[in-house]
This record gives sequence, C-alpha cells and structure tokens, in this order.
Amino acid sequence: MREIPGIGLVAWTRCSYLKLNMTDRIAYSLDAADRIVRIEGQWDDFAAANRGQHVTRPSVLGTSIFSHIAGSEVRSLYRQIFAKVRETHEPARFPYRCDSPEFRRNMAMTVSPRDRAGLHIESTTRGVTTRAPASILTRGKTGDTARVACICSVCCRVLDADGTWREVEAADVAAACLGSAGSVQLVDRICPECSMVDLGCRYLLTGNDRVSGRPRPLVVFLHGGGHSNYLLRLQAPPRLWHRLQQDDALLVSPLKRTSGAWTTHEVQQIIDHVSQTYAIDSHRIYVTGVSAGAIATWRLLAQQPRRFAAAAPIAGISPGAVRDVSIQTPVWAFYGERDPVMRAQSFRAELERLRRFVPTLRATEYPEAGHEIWGRAYNDATLWSWILSQRAGSTTGRRGGW
Ligand SMILES: [Zn+2]
Repeated sequence: MREIPGIGLVAWTRCSYLKLNMTDRIAYSLDAADRIVRIEGQWDDFAAANRGQHVTRPSVLGTSIFSHIAGSEVRSLYRQIFAKVRETHEPARFPYRCDSPEFRRNMAMTVSPRDRAGLHIESTTRGVTTRAPASILTRGKTGDTARVACICSVCCRVLDADGTWREVEAADVAAACLGSAGSVQLVDRICPECSMVDLGCRYLLTGNDRVSGRPRPLVVFLHGGGHSNYLLRLQAPPRLWHRLQQDDALLVSPLKRTSGAWTTHEVQQIIDHVSQTYAIDSHRIYVTGVSAGAIATWRLLAQQPRRFAAAAPIAGISPGAVRDVSIQTPVWAFYGERDPVMRAQSFRAELERLRRFVPTLRATEYPEAGHEIWGRAYNDATLWSWILSQRAGSTTGRRGGW
C-alpha cells in the first residue's frame, strides 16, 4: 500500500526528512467513486523531498484514495467526512498534524463538494517548528514488530504503554526508556479526543475494511457514559485486536455524541450502514457494551430479539427494559459484587427475571469487584471464544453453548 502526501491523515511523511518551506499547498480532486482524477500544487516536489518518488502523479491518478490511506479507523473517518460533504454540499475544514521526525507540522485540510458527486481536497501548511528528531517516527515503519504502538492520525499523539495518549516526544522518551524506540511499529488510529471533533464521524471501524470478499463477523462495541469511561471506550477494544484479526472480524465502535442514554435507533442505523457497506456475515453480528453501553445492549436486544448472534453486557442492566419478548440471542452478562452504581442484589434480581425472556442467559459476578470490570472481562479469552463461536439462526447446536 502506498500512502499519499498531503492527504493529511497518513503516516507516510513520518518516515521522511521533510524540508522546511515545502508543501505550502497540495490539492487533488476525486470523482464520485473516490478515484484521484486531478492533482495540483507541489505534489511531485513534496514526494521527492519525502522519499516518495513512488507516488508520482502518473502512478496515483485513477487509483482510489482509500487504497493509499493507512488504518481502517482513518479510512472510516474519511468515508464519513466525504459522505457528509456530498450530502450537505458544505465544505468540511479541520486542522491536523502531519509530523516528520524533525518537524512538528500543523496543517489544515478542506474537503469541498464538486460537480457530479466529486470532491476537492486541499491541504495547507499552517506552521512548522523544529525539534530533536523523534526516533519513534524515524523508525516507525521498519517492519520490526517487536512492539506495536498506536499513533493518532489527526493529532499525532501516541498511545503509550500505560494507556495514555501522549505527545510524540513524550512517547519517544518513554519508548527510549524501555529500550524499544528502535523496534516500534506504528499503527494509525484516531484517539478518543480527535474522534469527538465534529467531523461528522459517528463511529470508528477497526479491522480489515475491504468492501467485498468473504463475509466477516461484526462486533459492535458500545462505550460507557462518563468521562473516564469515554477515555476507556476505545482503549478496551484494542486488546481484542489479535483475537478479532484471527477471526477476520470487524469492530465498529459507535460514538455517543450527547450526554445521557444511547439512542439505540442511531446504533441500529450504524449497524445497517456498516453491514451494507462492508461484507458482513448477517449471522455473525455481536454486540457488547460497558455501563451505559451495557444498558443500550439490553435495549437493542429487546428491540431486535433475533438480530444478534451473541451479546455481552458488562456492568449495566436496565430493569424492566425487557418485557413481552423472547430474545433468541445468547447473552453473557457481567457485573461486580460491589458495583456502587447498581447493587449486586439488584443485578441478581433482574437477571433472574430476565431468564424468562432470554433462555440462553449466562451471568458472571466478579467477587469484590466494583463498576469498572470491563478490562477484566474483555481480557478473558473465554468470552471471545464464546462470542465468536455463536451464529444467529443456526440449528447446529453451537448456539448458546459454552
Ligand atoms: Zn488525536
């Protein structure tokens, strides 16, 4: 995969030696099918200065922009921005960082509508400052996979080992302290803060986001409501990456954009959209959520009792939300014995009531545990083996078994 300079949310320039005063403006146009049909500005100069001779104009014209963007979350963000601009005919503008090892580069991108559902994309340099070369960027794409680190394609911060998104210099220091700065492979993602920037982004998609081919399982992850949950919401799922990759599953993380409860019909719309856009196995759509996301999981099950192949609500339940319905989905619920948000006694009582509506209900109570139990639950390989082995509408005996 070749990544294109100037698109912004790409990692390509991080492997480069960027010269100052370059790239004042890079622009290109897409047709309705997102193929690059025109290139303007200092494209070739930029490419030559950034070891990108392979992405000259002739070699990229006519290709899909999405074949050049690194990271499924970044591609899903772009798809949503493009869809919004095409739908509203309003341009979208946003700042981003496009650093090289020696330079912090503040950029701005504008995506504008054009005739016949085309788009015009322009990136301009807002400011460049120098720094001591950040070795984590210099060596980030060497193919040495001793350690994988996530980098935010919008703000250029790196997800450190302790779960915090840090400025690249700080992450570099931390990696150097660990003696691993030379063996870090960077994976492009979108950090939680940047995902909340109003770009029209409604969800993040993680995994192999090819649009055709063999249908794959889809895992829907619903984050919690509080601020700390919000920061955690996109950090719990990455632990599942390896497991999800094994099963070639896609992970969709809808973003709750308002305070209060989830709007489940929006979640359903996102699942519909993702199912229609990517090759999804409709018999293998799974839903899990934490805290407020667990409550939403229960409500989704009540609204669509046959849609999901398995569900795992964690630390959340909605007393009375399920009634007069037979939920065919196998459910595995988790809660802490000392959850201060809802007492274990209430969990037990509601789960007992739910057994009438959910024949295949399983529950795990963590002794002495409080509310934030999702790290523990998601790290349990048994949970994922169980989830991913379920199939909706199956009569083979796998359903509900554990
Ligand atoms: Zn960010």
